[in-house]
Amino acid sequence: MFLCTLIFGCLTPSLQSNPEWGFIFNRLEKWRKDISKSEDGADPSVSTVAEFYRRNAWAVLVSTIISLRTKDEVTLTASQRLLEKANNPVKLNVMNEALIAKLIYPAGFYRNKAASLKKIAAILIKQYGGKVPKSMDELLALPGVGRKTANLVLNEAFDIDAICVDIHVHRISNRCGWLLSKTPDETEMILRDILPKKYWKRINYLLVLYGQKLCRPVSPYCSKCVIKNYCAKNGVDKSR
Ligand code: SF4
Repeated sequence: MFLCTLIFGCLTPSLQSNPEWGFIFNRLEKWRKDISKSEDGADPSVSTVAEFYRRNAWAVLVSTIISLRTKDEVTLTASQRLLEKANNPVKLNVMNEALIAKLIYPAGFYRNKAASLKKIAAILIKQYGGKVPKSMDELLALPGVGRKTANLVLNEAFDIDAICVDIHVHRISNRCGWLLSKTPDETEMILRDILPKKYWKRINYLLVLYGQKLCRPVSPYCSKCVIKNYCAKNGVDKSR
C-alpha cells in the first residue's frame, strides 16, 4: 500500500499508491457525526456562517476573508458583527474602512481585511450587479482572495465541487501519504487528480476539525485516530 520514496537523503516519506478513499471518508464522516453530538463538535465557523445566512454568497465571502489567520470563534462573532450592519455589498460600500476594521477586530490583519472588503464591495457593485461571481477566475481577481477562499466560496455558497485546501488538509494529506507536496496550492492540484470528485466538497469540512482535535500539528493523537490504519505518519516524530 505504501511506496517508500527517498527525499533529501534523510527523510523517507511513504506515498500510498492507491488510498482507500471509501474507507477513509466513511470513518471520518462517522467521527464527525459522533463529535457533532458532543459540546466539542462546533462546526468550522465559515460553515456555521453559511448555514446561518442560508448559504448567502456575500456572507460566505465576507466570513471566509475574515477567517484567514483567525480563530474560529473570533471569525464567527466578527462576521456576525459586520454582516448585521452590512448584509450586502451596497451597505458595506458606504461604510468607512475604520468602522469595518473596528467591527471585525480582533480578526488577524483586520485593517488589511477591511481595506480588501471595501474594494471587493465596490467591484461587485460595478462589475457584477452587487452579486458574488461564481467562477474561480472571477473570484481570484478580487483583492485578498486566494485559492483557499475562492474554493470555499464555490463550495459553501454555490454548492460547486471544489477542493478547499487549508493548512490542516495540506498537513494531513502529506502525513497520510496520499501525496507529497510543499504547499497547499500544490496539494490542491494533486488532490484534484487523485481524489474522486464526490469527496471534494467534504474534505475540508472533515479535515479542518480533525486537524484541530486529533491530527494536531505537534504530537498528533495517533492512538485515538480513526484512520491510523490508512496513514503513513510521514514526518510524525512524536505522537500521543
Ligand atoms: S495516524 Fe496520526 S498522523 Fe496519521 S492521520 Fe491519524 S493522527 Fe494524523
